Amino acid sequence: MRTRQLLISFLALMCSTYLHAQVFDDYFTDNTLRIDYIFAGDRNQQNIYVDQLSKTKGWFGRRKRLNQLPLEGNGQITVTDSLTGKVIYRHSFSTLFQEWISTEESKNTPKSFENVFLVPFPQRTAIVRVDLFDYHQNVSSSLTHVVDPSDILIRCLPLTSNKCVTLQQASDTTNCIKIAYVAEGYTKNQMNSFLEDAKIATEALFEHEPFKTMRGVFNIVCVESESKEEGTSIPHDNKWKDTVLGSHFDTFYSQRYLTTLHLKRLHDALSGIPYEHIIVLVNTSQYGGGGIYNSYNLSSTKHKHFRPVVVHEFGHSFGGLADEYEYTDSDPMYFSDTEPWEPNITTKHNFGLKWQNLIDEGKAGLVEGGGYQTKGVWRGLPDCRMRTNEHKDFCPVCQQALQRLIDFYVK
Ligand SMILES: [Zn+2]
Repeated sequence: MRTRQLLISFLALMCSTYLHAQVFDDYFTDNTLRIDYIFAGDRNQQNIYVDQLSKTKGWFGRRKRLNQLPLEGNGQITVTDSLTGKVIYRHSFSTLFQEWISTEESKNTPKSFENVFLVPFPQRTAIVRVDLFDYHQNVSSSLTHVVDPSDILIRCLPLTSNKCVTLQQASDTTNCIKIAYVAEGYTKNQMNSFLEDAKIATEALFEHEPFKTMRGVFNIVCVESESKEEGTSIPHDNKWKDTVLGSHFDTFYSQRYLTTLHLKRLHDALSGIPYEHIIVLVNTSQYGGGGIYNSYNLSSTKHKHFRPVVVHEFGHSFGGLADEYEYTDSDPMYFSDTEPWEPNITTKHNFGLKWQNLIDEGKAGLVEGGGYQTKGVWRGLPDCRMRTNEHKDFCPVCQQALQRLIDFYVK
């Protein structure tokens, strides 16, 4: 009986592996379609426009669960095969544009933001749809466009001339999570310093569970993108620097919020390199950072809190984790009629299976405060890497959420 069960499970495993392989090879070539979009608008109305399409050699994202989402996200991209009508690829993301929509500026001034998404290169004509969601998870903006893979105006991008150093090779490079560090504000002569900072970030990351246990599934490279000037722009000190990614503090007038709005430059710097998740290391001693789910994260490397900050920001950009701290005066982003998609906070609207198992085991509870709100949002534990720099680890709720995501990508 046991042998028979084993045989059945073995056949089921073989079958699912076969199906995964079939789906990718049936619909895609081993190349990347990069789609640049412009997201534009103001508080009342947002629009999405196609900017340009390009192709690079190799596909470095996942090759299984292609039509499933890792998390819901604040936006989604969906690729449908035009012949069969089948959804052949989905991915979720968040954007700075959607954060900006909640600022005062968006009430009176329409603005545009660059966004870049990577999808596996389709073999035949595909329909691509981009959806953005509001705070109640309703579609706030949507664009559908057709991509003909034989379109002569899809630009073929060459491999970047930036030097790429492998910091850690995954044990199975065909089934792993690919991370790239990108240098920002390091001059040509400072690349040793960049590589040292990348090593510090890597050691900090793998001191945290579940990354520590899962280290072997991560493939990590460092991209030596040179800046003309060192550092980054600090608008509140009237300091502007000529750097490769044009990053700056004071994003949306928030002093410590360090971002780049130049998504096209960021992806140009990585063209042809094996990457899916991006960690930008910024050569400054000014405290700050930022992380956007499935887009990128940035951290300042010369500040004493570099280690916890880079891990915290990776929690946002890779894990889709929400901040577990609160402000006393912020406008609410989470409402009692909507369950946040972020796995480490809840409004108790539809708590479902988020961390009920950990509550049952006595490993977590429901602690009020999180997602920048003092009321109406609950987290699982008093402290966490997503709450303070002083705490050592991700809380059990975040660890479980990160483990589920790692499994989604590689299991
Ligand atoms: Zn947590």
